[in-house]
Amino acid sequence: MSNRFSGKVAIVTGSSNGIGRATAFLFAQEGAKVTITGRNTQRLEETKHEILKAGIPEQHVLAIATDLATEKGQDKLINETIKKFGRLDILVNNAGALFHDAQGRNGIAQDISVYDRTMEINMRSVVTLTQKAKKYLIEAKGEILNVSSMAAGPQSVSVIYYAMSKAALDQFTRSAAIDLIQHGVRVNSVSPGVVATGAGEAMGMTPEMEQKYFNFVESHKDCIPCGSVGRPIDIAHIIAFLIVNCLLISLDKRL
Ligand code: NDP
Repeated sequence: MSNRFSGKVAIVTGSSNGIGRATAFLFAQEGAKVTITGRNTQRLEETKHEILKAGIPEQHVLAIATDLATEKGQDKLINETIKKFGRLDILVNNAGALFHDAQGRNGIAQDISVYDRTMEINMRSVVTLTQKAKKYLIEAKGEILNVSSMAAGPQSVSVIYYAMSKAALDQFTRSAAIDLIQHGVRVNSVSPGVVATGAGEAMGMTPEMEQKYFNFVESHKDCIPCGSVGRPIDIAHIIAFLIVNCLLISLDKRL
């Protein structure tokens, strides 16, 4: 295992589960000090346990249980990270959710409260957390990585508000990248397809329903040309690749 993140401090939001957990684990395994976060304390402990089980020193991991939909929760995340590690090099804005209408309606018929909840965590919290982290990322000439979704593409209909939030996130990535590069901070995103995480459970699916869904998309090449749903670690490797290679480019260009 290489030490690509040695000396770096990273916050990975949504690391009590799924893609965020795999990303935090990979970063820690490759030398980073990581702040892991989510609301569910039990799952957060599981992430921490996994990291420590791999032989990573306890002082390299900070677990912050907090609700990122609140600015108070975001302040706690940033302030406690700086207090413990003294700097911030990498912010992975991964926390996100797909909410459903309580009455099972699809498309634009979904209640506007679904839109509000979706935009709050998938978009607004990313903007405000980035604003709060900006000063420290500029000091470190750091990296922001936003986790978007293939749902941001033109084909998403039923999950309209989720798709809108991720399309807005893509625009935020483009605009923030242009805004922050003058300070030496790079902003990128990844757009996963279907990944087997805790997202199904968070949406109220039973494991059987989720498996049925995976079987369906895997058997339809127009859904998944490679024929298998992604694993969280697949996306974590792409996130790590992007961050490391952007760091190398920045060193070349002396940003
Ligand atoms: P999971 O449901 O497995 O994990 C979501 C994470 O986000 C959890 O750690 C959860 O923590 C956290 N989270 C959600 N709401 C809040 C909140 N209000 N405050 C703090 N943390 C919160 O999902 P995935 O790993 O699948 O999703 C990660 C990202 O990847 C999301 O942005 C998602 O949109 C995106 N994505 C996922 C795909 C997939 O197929 N799985 C496909 C494309 C994109 P907790 O519950 O502890 O609060």
